[in-house]
Amino acid sequence: MPDRLPNLPYSCQTIDATDAAALREVLASGWIARGPRIAQFEKQLADYCGARHAVAVCNGSAGLHLAGLALGLGPGQSGWTSSISFVASANCLRLCGAEAGFVDIDPDTANLSLADLTARLEAAAVAGNLPRVLVPVHFAGQACPLAEIGELAQRYGFRVIEDACHALGGSYRGEKIGNCRYSDLTVFSFHPVKSITTGEGGAILTNSDELAARLRRLRHNGLVRDTAELREPSPGPWYMEQQELGFNYWLTDLQCALGLSQFARLDQFVARRRELADLYARRLAESGLPVRLLSRSTEAESAHHLLVIRLDLGRIKPTRREVFERLQAAGIGVQVHYYPIPAQPYYRSQGTDPQAYPEAWRYYEEALSLPLYPALKDADVERVVGALREALV
Ligand SMILES: *Cc1c(COP(=O)(O)O)cnc(C)c1O
Repeated sequence: MPDRLPNLPYSCQTIDATDAAALREVLASGWIARGPRIAQFEKQLADYCGARHAVAVCNGSAGLHLAGLALGLGPGQSGWTSSISFVASANCLRLCGAEAGFVDIDPDTANLSLADLTARLEAAAVAGNLPRVLVPVHFAGQACPLAEIGELAQRYGFRVIEDACHALGGSYRGEKIGNCRYSDLTVFSFHPVKSITTGEGGAILTNSDELAARLRRLRHNGLVRDTAELREPSPGPWYMEQQELGFNYWLTDLQCALGLSQFARLDQFVARRRELADLYARRLAESGLPVRLLSRSTEAESAHHLLVIRLDLGRIKPTRREVFERLQAAGIGVQVHYYPIPAQPYYRSQGTDPQAYPEAWRYYEEALSLPLYPALKDADVERVVGALREALV
């Protein structure tokens, strides 16, 4: 019996000795929760992306939640997002008390469809129920058509929160995702499978001084310490003024030390992801297998968060489930990103019609994510494509 090859996860973090050293340094420094590295990490992020402010928070979901609150999203209003995403893209709208609405996807990119968005906006304008906020998701790391979304935002008067949890390190029209040129706010996640990790973590970027101040307050239980920002006379230097209801959504100094250390390799990670995605594309094209990749936009350089293939189910015998299970059995960590959010029981219970997003459903039935992460080897890609060939017969 040959030795069994190691299992390949669909994704994982890349941690090295410099990360470990950075963490040991913080542990020895005396600061572990709220220390100087938070502001350093925020400055690094803001500078890299070309935004005025970055506000670090405990995870991407918390970032989306605060982004909605900072824009004043609340009960009696609605927000829309893509029907194919992680549930947090929609949950943030509900957590603000607003209704969540959805947009169907563009089958080529799996980003939200501009045509469907435009049609829904036209109908909503007539019905008088336009959304207050749109949350476009840069699916798999490739930017949505942000300029067109920005124009629609102007025309219909909604605000834009980019869910860029897949897209740190990616760019659009030659500029980094996160510069908020076409949006009010951009949210990143530093979960272990994302471009860089802080364990769990997230951040919100913006060019607005006001929104940044509000986000900082909301992450700090609604408290303000800076005397210049107090609304009433200070009773003493110990005082923090609670100006509204907020949360403890801080990212820690420890996590920011890891984030800073990871940042040094962000471009390297993304470049390796791109190399692997290109290798997959070449090998899959040569293989002639009945699968296709998401198409690449000419306007965006993807951060290559996911390597999604769509199975041509009409040309293969096994079902998607069988292909999934065969690959898992061969030690290939495949995954499905994502079950359409409007079909989730919670959103159906809120009155969402899952049938209203046919492209999302078609995509979901055919989609499979293959392993993609910086430490994956070229030989692993050959192994995955070989296992896929066997799984499709
Ligand atoms: C990862 C992710 C989030 C949330 O990130 P967490 O840090 O896990 O809370 C939100 N949206 C999308 C699209 C994601 O992939």
